[in-house]
Amino acid sequence: MKQRKRVFAALLAAALAFTLAGCGQEPAANASPTGSGTNPPAAQAGEEIFQKNMHQSATMDLKVCCETEDGIYVETEGAFIYFISKETKKATILCGKPECRHEDNTCNAWFCCQSLWYSNGKLYYRNADKVIENGQVVDDGDRLYSANLDGTDHTAVQRLEFTPSGDTNAFVTKRPIFHKGVTYFPCSGVLYALPLGEDIEKAEKIWGEEIPPDDSHMGNLNRLDYDLFADGDTVYFMVNLPQSDGTYKDTLYAYDTVSKEVSQVWEVPNADTVGTWETTGVSVSQWYVLDGVIYFYLSGGDYWKTDLKTGETVKLADTHEKTQYGSAVCSDTYMALLNDHPQGSDAIASFGSPWGNTGGDTIYLYSLTGEFIKELSLQPLYDKYDTLSHCAPTFLSGDDIYFLADCTVWGAYVGGMSHPEGDMVLCCINIESGEITEILTW
Ligand SMILES: [Zn+2]
Repeated sequence: MKQRKRVFAALLAAALAFTLAGCGQEPAANASPTGSGTNPPAAQAGEEIFQKNMHQSATMDLKVCCETEDGIYVETEGAFIYFISKETKKATILCGKPECRHEDNTCNAWFCCQSLWYSNGKLYYRNADKVIENGQVVDDGDRLYSANLDGTDHTAVQRLEFTPSGDTNAFVTKRPIFHKGVTYFPCSGVLYALPLGEDIEKAEKIWGEEIPPDDSHMGNLNRLDYDLFADGDTVYFMVNLPQSDGTYKDTLYAYDTVSKEVSQVWEVPNADTVGTWETTGVSVSQWYVLDGVIYFYLSGGDYWKTDLKTGETVKLADTHEKTQYGSAVCSDTYMALLNDHPQGSDAIASFGSPWGNTGGDTIYLYSLTGEFIKELSLQPLYDKYDTLSHCAPTFLSGDDIYFLADCTVWGAYVGGMSHPEGDMVLCCINIESGEITEILTW
């Protein structure tokens, strides 16, 4: 029940944010770093590559993150960015204004975004703005912004909507990606490519059919959620395509950024190839692409790969021997599998795993190619927090596995809604030592 309320509250919050004020005023932030902070680093050179490991989060509560050589930037409570030093694991809110109380959109750390990346010494993020100017509401629509690594100098870089609030599929997650100088973003059901800094009129259509406007702004929720990814010279996008029998199937397309060609390269295998799993025949629990091979984990099943050139599908590990269900995150080196499990008959299951998962006290670490390496225990956290109900892996960075510990307690019903009280704790566990560090609590 608990997770359903969280998701419902999140959906309601999203609906309110969308209908009322885009990313306007929000409740006060009360996140606090565990321990004293360090100052974010000065700007540094960076490669304009897509950070694959930062797009693997298995929890809706922490989807927005990117990293530099020195640190990791995460968004908490859907609004505020924190910097985490990779060396000390100390978190600092990305705002150095001495008088700031870090509670609204005047704070430097206020990004309120669904997509964040790092490139050439700057942070980039997508935001939708409605601002009051001379007593009038001015709607700037979806735009890409940049900011310095210390949270200063938020600057609009380019529009990501042809007309403000004109996206006819606005309720799907809009998580643009950046790859080799180009922003890839969906709008009204179509995927576009737009060189960084260029006007949207120069956007190139990559794929998809435009959804004509209606009053719902909903579009087809099953179909048009672009899950974007990139590896080498290829931009990948996973879409949920309708089948002749009325069902939907996760289908992967590849856009060759050199030849500019789009091709379908993969779709979710059938049960006769990989057996049954939580969402048999429809979607995978986690996927990752490296050098033309897709690696995918099936919760309720096993860990597999498919060579995207030959189409050959091979089992990499009998993960069900460790845990029947789970949530996974990948990097070029590792696949970390946490033994959490779905809430069974709870209605949240219809939203899809892993939103409604519970538990998770052991991480099974594999190489990306499926060799079992070791087990890591999260039990000390359960011993410490008696309200801890779920751990969810968020991303892998170097030899650290970051995960979110949900210690939320749901309060009394007020006006028909239950409100969360208590803590989400961002932690990491070191692969070598097994040591758990609590980084940030909100
Ligand atoms: Zn502030």
